[in-house]
Amino acid sequence: MLDIVTCPSKDGRTMVGLHASQIGIDKDIMVVDFTDQSLIRTKLFGRKIGVESDLKVLMNPKIIYKSSEKVAGAESCFSERSEVFGIVERPESIFMKAVLQNGKSFKQPVKGFTSRIAQHESDHGKGRRFADYIDDPNDLHRVPEFLLSVYSCVPKKVWPIHFSKKEFAVIKERATPLPRP
Ligand SMILES: [Zn+2]
Repeated sequence: MLDIVTCPSKDGRTMVGLHASQIGIDKDIMVVDFTDQSLIRTKLFGRKIGVESDLKVLMNPKIIYKSSEKVAGAESCFSERSEVFGIVERPESIFMKAVLQNGKSFKQPVKGFTSRIAQHESDHGKGRRFADYIDDPNDLHRVPEFLLSVYSCVPKKVWPIHFSKKEFAVIKERATPLPRP
């Protein structure tokens, strides 16, 4: 799992999280990038070169507290086509319990973008995908690779490239996967 997360895609992005179920492993294990997000500004969902990543393997993760304060933010997913992004509203901070790779227990608050990653990955363990939260087609965005850097800078509510009604329904319903471009 760590090898997959750290292997850059062809557009140079690296992943910030992965759940075992996404690669056919029937265990509740997830990798979450805890790297200080203030150091990651150059690429959307990608690490700035030279920044040491802080990947944690969390086994049997449990979210035991979710803040009532929610924030909307953009997400994408290894299990979707790379150009599928969406706006998801999630609790701003959570408190998590899990077991680390070394057998020690992990018990701490998780905030900001890391909290978003942890919630997204934890959802995979329950068979839930980020698109399940999106009901407004305007909140699901098509972001071609060459526009990624633009996407990371614009307010997401005004992003103009969306999916057709049919494509939106396919992404929502997990029907026949769209052909990869
Ligand atoms: Zn995902």
